[in-house]
Amino acid sequence: MQNNEVKKVVIAGGGTAGWVAAAALSKKLGQFVEVILVESDQIGTVGVGEATIPPMKVFHSLLGIDEQEFMAATEATFKLGISFKNWGQIGDHYIHPFGTTGQSSFLADFQHFWLHGKSKGINAEFGEYSFEIQAAKAGKFATSKNSSINYAYHLDATRYAQYLRQFSEKLGTKRIEGKIQLVQQHANGDIKALQLESGQVIDADLFIDCTGFAGLLIDKTLKTEYEDWSHWLPCNSAIAIQTESVGAAAPYVTCTAHHAGWQWHIPLQHRVGNGNVFCDKFMSDVEAKKHLLDNVQGAVLTEPRVIKYKTGRRKVFWNRNCVALGLSSGFVEPLESTSIYMFMNGIVRLMKIFPFNGVTKSSIDEYNQQSIAELENVRDFIILHYHATSREDSEFWRYCKNMQVPDSLSHRMELFRENALAFQGERELFRLESWTHVMLGQGIMPKHYHSIFKTMTDQELMGHLSNTRNTINTAVAKLPSHQDFVNHYCKAP
Ligand code: FAD
Repeated sequence: MQNNEVKKVVIAGGGTAGWVAAAALSKKLGQFVEVILVESDQIGTVGVGEATIPPMKVFHSLLGIDEQEFMAATEATFKLGISFKNWGQIGDHYIHPFGTTGQSSFLADFQHFWLHGKSKGINAEFGEYSFEIQAAKAGKFATSKNSSINYAYHLDATRYAQYLRQFSEKLGTKRIEGKIQLVQQHANGDIKALQLESGQVIDADLFIDCTGFAGLLIDKTLKTEYEDWSHWLPCNSAIAIQTESVGAAAPYVTCTAHHAGWQWHIPLQHRVGNGNVFCDKFMSDVEAKKHLLDNVQGAVLTEPRVIKYKTGRRKVFWNRNCVALGLSSGFVEPLESTSIYMFMNGIVRLMKIFPFNGVTKSSIDEYNQQSIAELENVRDFIILHYHATSREDSEFWRYCKNMQVPDSLSHRMELFRENALAFQGERELFRLESWTHVMLGQGIMPKHYHSIFKTMTDQELMGHLSNTRNTINTAVAKLPSHQDFVNHYCKAP
């Protein structure tokens, strides 16, 4: 490991990960380090990754990005959650929303109150106490300075990378177009420079590998091992197409399970992103393409594109003087739209422990430990959607239902099943409400719940539950339609 000051950073790759890294580095550390990004027009980007989660707003505000300008530039719409169809069993439907659900007390979260209400005969679903779910179902949306609605975006991935490119170049990021042919190393194994097909050599102190599934630096050069998670998440293929919009854009993503995976529907302003995620052991590429085309609405705008992947992660994300961000660092399928968030948080984490005075083992270890813990939490949450199912209609679902899951997930499921307990650990992305919505939505009904209800009479509890719903429904009724709001809010300047 070279123990030199880091004054020059080279980002290899200009997909969403590369430009997110460039935008953050040039905005926040541009006065201390030179930022160069190398990308190949000939290779292009993966071109998917269009659904996001709420922390993106925090990242944008860190960078000073104007929401209306960003939404106009990327044809974005608002997202209030994800609608899951056919996951617990065929015909099932639930929404995993952003935001809080009901009111919790210090001792017990809202599901305990709801479960007691249910035992007393209320027939309102858990989701009826979520403002975001009720707004999503009604196709409504509005945001204002005083609004507490929790949301994220659906965006056009190619336009987003272009938008961040402009943003970063204005702040001094130097972009070099060209194909990396060779990665040069120092005698000790650290990366020294990228050599392009043109012969140009670009050296740096720190390299960020954003070369996508190619993993040119972290994998091909540094041979960083990969931990395979396919036994827990067997889907290994995706086919993506874009279609014309039909009707108003919904403020949520739809993920519809099928016999060997699931299909996504992401509504943007100008089109819809669609894709089929599947396991090729149980569905051929030809069958997957047909299934996708048979289940989209609107004219097809692009050729179906097959993407192959192996779910898992690099054993380390930061190796020597190279940090992998995005697809080069590993991949967990996009069921909960987590990848963009992971590398946004990754670059922020890197900037917080930036090796100004040289790369050290302690910084590398800290970065890796935090990043791995975060990704493993995401992994468990995604596995939950497959494992907590009653589906037995195909070999794929029988496998998922009966597979061994990580102990960390079994523990959570048991806690919930036994006593309705959910939690969010330190540095975990998913809030306890997320776990609760998905566990209930997938059909895990707790046997017991907290005795907190004994502090209220049944009448008080019923009154409280019904007031909560009324307040939500009254507020939702006043919202404009999502499409009207987008039309008004996201006009190009
Ligand atoms: P890429 O977009 O592949 O970019 C790689 C870059 O490296 C390109 O610029 C390429 O030109 C360059 N490059 C590669 N080799 C060379 C070379 N030799 N020389 C020069 N340049 C080179 N994430 C979400 O958050 N939400 C989603 O809804 C979502 N959906 C997804 C659906 C699918 C099917 C897949 C596969 C992923 C999805 N993701 C999603 C993940 C998301 O798409 C990626 O995390 C994101 O696009 C970042 O990709 P990237 O920048 O790492 O790679």
